[in-house]
Amino acid sequence: MSGFVDTRYSNTTKNRLTPLMQWFEVNIGPSWRSEALCAQTDPEAFFPGKGGSTQEAKRVCADCTVRKQCLDWAVEHDERFGIWGGMSERERRRYKKRMRAQRQV
Ligand code: SF4
Repeated sequence: MSGFVDTRYSNTTKNRLTPLMQWFEVNIGPSWRSEALCAQTDPEAFFPGKGGSTQEAKRVCADCTVRKQCLDWAVEHDERFGIWGGMSERERRRYKKRMRAQRQV
């Protein structure tokens, strides 16, 4: 889906390489950057300050085609900050615990 631009999110930072996307490019590879919907949005929404809302980022993640890969990567690497794969750090910890528990059954 290279070159895909979802016009619902493109009016703010269309085609801008956000810090999150720069990180993707260095650590995961260009395929993620080209498919990650957050590349077309305000990167600050993905790293809200303490007590800040996560809803805008989660709304974008809900429509993202690489959500599963993003979440798996963040869980595997114990990513501590930001919204990844539609989950906050706390939600990812719970998700990881559930996954571990399911593997032990
Ligand atoms: S799931 Fe969310 S944080 Fe991950 S690449 Fe997609 S939009 Fe970005």
